[in-house]
Parts: sequence; C-alpha cells; structure tokens
Amino acid sequence: MIDLHTHSSASDGSDSPEELVRKARALGARALALTDHDTLDGLNAAEEAARSLSLDFVRGCEISTKGALGTFHILGLWIPRRCEALLAFLAEAKKRRAERNREMLKKARARGLGISLEDFGGKPLESLGRPHFARALMEKGYVQSIKEGFEKYVGAGGEIYLPKESATPEEAVAALSKSGAKAFIAHPFLNKNRSRAELERAVKILKNFGLNGLEAWHSGHDEAEIRAAAEIAERNGLQISGGSDYHGSIKPDIKLGYAAPGLPVPDKIYFNLLEYNKKYS
Ligand code: AMP
Ligand code: ZN
Ligand code: FE
Ligand code: FE
Repeated sequence: MIDLHTHSSASDGSDSPEELVRKARALGARALALTDHDTLDGLNAAEEAARSLSLDFVRGCEISTKGALGTFHILGLWIPRRCEALLAFLAEAKKRRAERNREMLKKARARGLGISLEDFGGKPLESLGRPHFARALMEKGYVQSIKEGFEKYVGAGGEIYLPKESATPEEAVAALSKSGAKAFIAHPFLNKNRSRAELERAVKILKNFGLNGLEAWHSGHDEAEIRAAAEIAERNGLQISGGSDYHGSIKPDIKLGYAAPGLPVPDKIYFNLLEYNKKYS
C-alpha cells in the first residue's frame, strides 16, 4: 500500500510527523506523503524519519480554496525543498486561518462556551483547524464526539462556525505548479452537492493553470467514485493520486493507507506517478 494524503500534528492530525512515518513503515507502506493543511512545517521531520526507515517520502500539503469554480482542496505533491514563493502564498493562508480561529474563539466565548487557546495544547492559532475546536468542545463535555462538535458548533451553519477567506483554486494550482510541485484536486467527490459536469468544467479550467491530476483513491470516495475520478483524469490527460486523509485520533474511522476497510491504496498509483514525474521534470 501507499498513502499520499495524510495529516500530522503540524496541522490537525494527532500524530507527530515522526509517529506518522513510523506507523506507515510498520504497516509496510511503500510510500508516504505528508499533506498538512496550508503548511510545510512537518515535512523536514517526516522526511528525516522516513530516510532513516527507508520509506519513500513525498513532500506535500493541502490547500483549502474557494472561488467561482467552487470549493476545492488542492493537494501539492513533490514540493521542492526550496519554494519561497509557495511559502509566501501559504503564509497568507496561515494568517487568514489565525484570524478565523481568533474570531471563532470570540464567538465561543460570547456563547458561554468555556474554551480558550489554552485548550489546544500550546498549538499556535495559525495551525488550528476546526477539528481541534470540535475536540476541545468534546473534552469540555459540550458534545459527545468530534462529529457532534461539527454538527452543532463548527461545521457550516454551526453555532460558532465562521467561513474562512481563502485563495481560489486557480491561484493554489498556479502557486504549486510554479514552485515545481505537482497539483491534484483532493477528494473531488467528497462534496456530494457538486455535479460531475461542474467538476469536469473546473478540471478543464484548472488544467490551464497547471493541474496535474485528481485524487481518485480517498476514504471519502466509494468504488464508483474512485472509477469516476480515474475516468475524468483519463479523459483530460491527467494523472490520479490516492491517499486515506488519515488524521489519527481526530478521525478515528480513517485508517492509514486505506481508502476503505480492506481497500488499501495500491502501490501502482505511486509508481505511475514516479514514471510521469520522470517524463515531465
Ligand atoms: P478547517 O481547515 O479549519 O476549515 O478544517 C477543515 C478540517 O475539518 C478538515 O480536516 C476537514 O476534513 C474537517 N471537517 C470538515 N467538515 C467536517 C465534518 N462535518 N466532520 C468532521 N470533520 C470535518
Ligand atoms: Zn484536516
Ligand atoms: Fe481535504
Ligand atoms: Fe486532508
């Protein structure tokens, strides 16, 4: 198996980058990408740990975007070590994330919810995500699960939810592409409200900005959606990637290396991408 979509404690995963690498190695994974939200902060530690365990490691990140084309998460894979412009782009995203988290904490206080920055284990505001809020609300007894935390409080329409300003998908794809990274639409079918036609229209436009592929294998996709993503990629001359979207104990149902129980992400995805990278580097 491989896993090209995972989160560590550098964003909203619960495992440190090193722990994540150790777990992937113990599972017998062939390759691992770390793709934290809006940050490259965990990559050096993970890469170092992967090297010492002889596990193939791919430097990555996941960028939340919104624009006329819709709401997309864009995965960057094979991010070069030197990427000043991309870091500046991500710094903007972190700033907006910190602002949003500050406002969400204010909203929580205004509603009498007893959560504060101290409940986030010393993590900086810029690296917190809504799952941290949901977990803090659970730990304080306001909800029974992270899922309920999203439903009542931090999910869209929840009591302390605030939308986050973000870059457009075109901007994120272009920033990744210019840095030399490969850009993929993450979990294209996770949003069940988007039609296939809308998705395919976005794919065609994003291809002009440097899009390399779609994430077909993902824990939020069923087998028909995995196939559909692969078909869209094929029709548009694009690649496919695959990963679990592992977050550790924050999303306990998602298993490292698996798109679904009994359905590991196949090595072939990784080897095909290596071939493609060799051709287009
Ligand atoms: P943020 O970047 O702060 O907007 O948070 C995004 C994170 O929250 C990602 O890991 C999403 O997968 C997760 N998330 C979004 N909606 C839900 C939901 N309804 N239940 C659980 N996790 C969610
Ligand atoms: Zn996340
Ligand atoms: Fe995502
Ligand atoms: Fe993710």
